[in-house]
Amino acid sequence: MTIALADLLPSLKDKDLFRQQSVIGGVWCDASTGRTIEITNPATGKAIGTVPDMSAEDTRRAIEAADVAFRSWRQVPNAERAAKLERWFTLMEAHADDLALILTLEQGKPLAEAKGEITYGASFVKWFAEEARRIEGGIIPSPTSDRKILALKEPVGVSAIITPWNFPNAMITRKVAPALAAGCTVVIKPSDFTPYSALALAVLAERAGIPAGVINILTGLPAEIGAELTASPVVRKLSFTGSTRVGSLLMAQCAPTVKRLSLELGGNAPFLVFDDADLDAAVDGAIASKFRNGGQTCVCSNRILVQSGIYDAFAAKLSARVAAMKVGSGLEAGVAIGPMINRAAVEKIERHVADAVAKGASIAAKAATPEGSQFAAPAVLTGCTTDMQLASEETFGPVAPLFRFETEEEAVAIANDTPFGLAAYFYTRDMARAWRVGEALESGMVGLNTGAISMAVSPFGGIKQSGLGREGAREGIEEYLETKAFHIGGL
Ligand code: NAD
Repeated sequence: MTIALADLLPSLKDKDLFRQQSVIGGVWCDASTGRTIEITNPATGKAIGTVPDMSAEDTRRAIEAADVAFRSWRQVPNAERAAKLERWFTLMEAHADDLALILTLEQGKPLAEAKGEITYGASFVKWFAEEARRIEGGIIPSPTSDRKILALKEPVGVSAIITPWNFPNAMITRKVAPALAAGCTVVIKPSDFTPYSALALAVLAERAGIPAGVINILTGLPAEIGAELTASPVVRKLSFTGSTRVGSLLMAQCAPTVKRLSLELGGNAPFLVFDDADLDAAVDGAIASKFRNGGQTCVCSNRILVQSGIYDAFAAKLSARVAAMKVGSGLEAGVAIGPMINRAAVEKIERHVADAVAKGASIAAKAATPEGSQFAAPAVLTGCTTDMQLASEETFGPVAPLFRFETEEEAVAIANDTPFGLAAYFYTRDMARAWRVGEALESGMVGLNTGAISMAVSPFGGIKQSGLGREGAREGIEEYLETKAFHIGGL
């Protein structure tokens, strides 16, 4: 396959959605330095276009545009902000095919999964359009009769949004929709691997009537833009999704200006299968949670812990499913696993497998991969132990390592033996165990008898080194609101 975006432009129904410029204050622009970076299709390694590599000076202009827009956007009645977000949602749905095609071309995931991401991403816009109407403060009973005390909800202000490449659409909407609903304006720095999905969203936001300067996007390499966004006293909030390493660096950079922070960081999700589990359901759940997006998902199960009595049967069924997985370009019919985002990702996966095998693991199943250096073979490893690299680091690829355990206590102890706490899954039909284990798992999100725990209505986020704050749900909008105590005296 040697398809580049330029070759596919004819298949885009609305060609205007493919932009190769940043946007500041409603003006589509290049970098003031003239610098650009090239974006490649991970399935082919071929360039699909360029985007500007925005500088510190460009970043200052974007912050200023967001600051100017904030003064009027915060005054727009909530119902009107909600209506604009609803229009944005409708446009996303109407252009879902084009948005999915752009996403697959720059990120690699199978087209059907890309469409799923667009629906999922749009659902946050819809949810927060609804929440915009329900930003309510409170009246606090006063201890004296000569005053009223009010709790007012106000937008935090200009918010910096930094997002990863694995969900180029949804990671943006999950942050931008609550920010805009709350009355904040944003400066977005999308991943330098996947900027086109963000730019297409900005085109649709413009068409939805979201005013110039409310959404600004800076494409390019991260360090210079990130340094400026975090240092600026005008930026009052940073919402970041990405690795724990970069998240903690940005947290330190935000410290001098004491910004509000939301950090959605790395995970090391355990997936526990107890002897009494429904075997087929557990295999389905493991496939969903481990292999979605080629295993490049922060809530992907990273360690699959299986109780002795069901271990062999589970390994056999999972292996049969994994061995049959089709790997290839996300645009090919029937492909379950697309390319990894880059060569470094493939090398990390190969390193984890080699380390596990050297320490005694066996490869129980391995699917065939096409020619091309960016494809990683889906695999099942049995006989994994906690001293292996894949037990303590995110593999972020389509490799399912199986660990054997004997008792519930042992399983919970292994599950919690990690500095991360994003997602955890377990399969059992014993209700007493369900409560015990559900409460014992140290994790921001827990799935019992399900491998899917992410939806707009539910709070998403981690504990420990997996981050701070929540996205989605009622909590999601609170991340962009301040509470002001307003005392009215002399009554
Ligand atoms: P990353 O941390 O390398 O990059 C994330 C973003 O930060 C990108 O936009 C990148 O350009 C930017 N960045 C990198 N260095 C920067 C700097 N010095 N200053 C400012 N910005 C900088 O992560 P990634 O490889 O893009 O994404 C994968 C990671 O994201 C995984 O660890 C995964 O678990 C995590 N993730 C977490 C969630 C969640 O909700 N918790 C969701 C998706 C991904």
